[in-house]
Amino acid sequence: MNGIVVVGTGQAGFQLGASLRENGYAGPVTLVGEEPGLPYGRPPLSKAYMLGKTDAAGLALRPEAYFAEHRLTMRAGERAAAIDRGASILRLASGEVLPYDHLVLATGSRNRPLPVPGADLPGVHQLRTLADADALKAALAEAKAVAVVGAGFIGLEFAAVCAQKGLAVTVIEGLERPLARSVSSGMAALIEASHVRAGVRFLFGSAVAGITGSDRARAVALADGREIPADLVLVGIGVIPNHELAAAADLRIENGIAVDAMLATDDARISAIGDCASFPSPHAGGARVRIESVQNAVDGARCVAARLTGRPAAFEAVPWFWSDQGPLKLQIAGLCQPHDRTVRRGDPESGGVSVFCYRGDRLVGVESLNRPADHMVARRLLQAGRGPTPEEAADPGFDLKALAL
Ligand code: FAD
Repeated sequence: MNGIVVVGTGQAGFQLGASLRENGYAGPVTLVGEEPGLPYGRPPLSKAYMLGKTDAAGLALRPEAYFAEHRLTMRAGERAAAIDRGASILRLASGEVLPYDHLVLATGSRNRPLPVPGADLPGVHQLRTLADADALKAALAEAKAVAVVGAGFIGLEFAAVCAQKGLAVTVIEGLERPLARSVSSGMAALIEASHVRAGVRFLFGSAVAGITGSDRARAVALADGREIPADLVLVGIGVIPNHELAAAADLRIENGIAVDAMLATDDARISAIGDCASFPSPHAGGARVRIESVQNAVDGARCVAARLTGRPAAFEAVPWFWSDQGPLKLQIAGLCQPHDRTVRRGDPESGGVSVFCYRGDRLVGVESLNRPADHMVARRLLQAGRGPTPEEAADPGFDLKALAL
């Protein structure tokens, strides 16, 4: 028996191994990952870790002893170089080959590079790995003025950290509002206002033409000729799925590694999970989606582990996500984009607010700000395929919890 080989020791790869053992799988499980060390969670990198509220040990998904106890063979610091599907072997960059009964690709994603002159100057950072976070944290300790390119989740979380540290921080965004791909315009406005109150400056509709400075970054040059002084620049303009290993093995690529409703590729002996995979989702009306979240990585891994241990089922878990935006906790249940109507419940000034997003009359997702009870109910409702009508959602007296029972 060759067992199960997993490429990627991030959130999805780790969970696959853990869930196989929870489900009683007794064969060999090997996790191959190019990052050094034990699997760790990325979300605190832009939050608690950047603020010094947790250390590297606090990021580990499990302590070292767990891997030996559960017979999960970690091959950290090893890069998978090629898949020979005919021979069912994974070739490592070292030249070693690992035969598999089943191969799971959990290769995640990498940061999209900023395609302008000066993007490689010292002082320009990205944030994906623990190594990135350590470099960024060290730079932050010396920084006087910070620019963040991209008003997505990670850029805004980092801007909140800078503001908390009392640093001047400017967020530069090409579109006209923050989080344009991820949240409704009403929710984005609330989040933007909170960051502005904390001291973050926003420049919307601003294209970056380059990073200037001779020996290191000194300013961000905008296409309209303005220069924004910054000795630390964080680029957060989205990610690219790591699909090259799969593509070179002639697996289908469609915005990531294309898998079916059970997260299997066109090769029945290869599955793909987490940030690198795109799958048809019942929560998107059957459309193919690729989701970058801890929930998607964890639940996708559980789905594949169940299939590999004799309980095949489609991947139908409700997508959910969270982000800490300074003092605000944003939670999203479902896939809110696209929507054509929103209904607000609650009051941002007193306690929190939720935005119910509808496509036609169907509730497709709920964005909650400091309103965790709505988030939990929304997850239950979306899983059950139910939801309040827009009129019910707008009625503060309407009992949402009762609907979810
Ligand atoms: P990854 O965690 O990226 O792991 C993939 C691993 O595979 C990497 O270690 C990579 O090096 C390795 N790999 C790739 N190719 C190879 C190869 N050929 N050989 C060997 N190894 C390889 N999500 C949330 O839900 N909430 C949050 O608040 C949140 N905050 C975040 C903050 C930050 C700073 C970042 C970076 C992400 C955040 N996310 C958050 C997203 C979440 O962390 C990801 O969606 C999740 O990590 C995806 O897990 P994954 O296992 O698919 O990919």
